[in-house]
Amino acid sequence: MRVKAGKAVFQAPERNQVARPVSRPKWLYKAAGFVYKLSKQRCGGSLYFRPKNLDDAISVLSSSGGQILAGGTDFYPALGERLPQGDVVDITAVREIRGVSTEERYFRIGGLTTWTEVVRAPLPHCFDALKAAAREIGSVQIQNCGTVAGNLCNASPAADSVPALLVLDAEVELVSTGGARRLPLAQFITGNRRTQIRGDEVLTAVLVPHQSESAASAFLKLGARKYLVISISMVAVILETNSSGCVSQARVAVGSCSAVARRLFDLEKDLLGQPADPQIGSLVGPQHLATLSPIDDIRATAEYRRDASVTLVRRALQACVGST
Ligand SMILES: Cc1cc2nc3c(=O)[nH]c(=O)nc-3n(C[C@H](O)[C@H](O)[C@H](O)COP(=O)(O)OP(=O)(O)OC[C@H]3O[C@@H](n4cnc5c(N)ncnc54)[C@H](O)[C@@H]3O)c2cc1C
Repeated sequence: MRVKAGKAVFQAPERNQVARPVSRPKWLYKAAGFVYKLSKQRCGGSLYFRPKNLDDAISVLSSSGGQILAGGTDFYPALGERLPQGDVVDITAVREIRGVSTEERYFRIGGLTTWTEVVRAPLPHCFDALKAAAREIGSVQIQNCGTVAGNLCNASPAADSVPALLVLDAEVELVSTGGARRLPLAQFITGNRRTQIRGDEVLTAVLVPHQSESAASAFLKLGARKYLVISISMVAVILETNSSGCVSQARVAVGSCSAVARRLFDLEKDLLGQPADPQIGSLVGPQHLATLSPIDDIRATAEYRRDASVTLVRRALQACVGST
């Protein structure tokens, strides 16, 4: 169904049929030269837009109220056998919100940046956890099209990027025709599949402040198998040490063990001033994970999740010490 603007219009396929191009009715292009129409009858009048820049994207979102489509790796599985309800705004041609750059106060990761691009970006050590999380998202094919913003806006409790971005103190930038606003990631995701994004907003970037850049960081994911697996638990850690070899900064987050991934603030406090040596893991106890609320599901019991998470946190801390 996704086609390059100006090349073809695709008719919505019947079940089990491949979409095929149909003739292009010229009036459909009037809006801004980027409108496609899916068969009105078969798609209940849904329109497919592929804007080429952010201004067009936010203006079409504000007028159509359509749903954003990026890599589609959450969007299409969520549809199952159904066709999209309402208009679709495919933002994959909005190149200005793609890629990683360095600004005066922040590293800017464009919302449309794929996980492969995150892995390949030259970034300081504190991003090692995020890169490790990126490498664990699905498979290489998924990492080639899945985007940073898609992972955050989908807001799955098992979204692998969230703990790694929480320990980086990341913020999100949201843009609409009304202007831009920023929110800490910790406030942006409010629950299972719930965020603070409004229907007319695009998540244009994740902003990571310049801090603890040389700090060691680690990400560990536990699943029922090595690849293409939804996390049972995952842990991200950033650890900074001072000249005496003691912990001067620690940030720890756990995902898949509550509706939204959480920082372990009590543990972070207890780690401050402690020697950054291979015994660091022994400082972690079950009480540090008391704020988590894991559930029993098909992948694991709540008890197993808690127990496994303590072990993951210990190992992630030890991995940071090993890499300093
Ligand atoms: C086989 C498979 C394996 C997977 N494995 C993992 C895994 O191991 N770990 C993991 O965390 N995820 C996994 N995923 C989920 C998915 O790949 C990621 O969440 C990915 O980052 C989603 O990005 P996307 O660009 O494909 O989002 P899309 O599917 O295009 O969009 C997802 C949601 O975000 C919204 N959206 C997208 N971009 C924006 C934007 N810029 N602004 C506002 N809203 C936006 C869309 O409207 C939609 O609601 C897997 C998916 C598949 C199909």
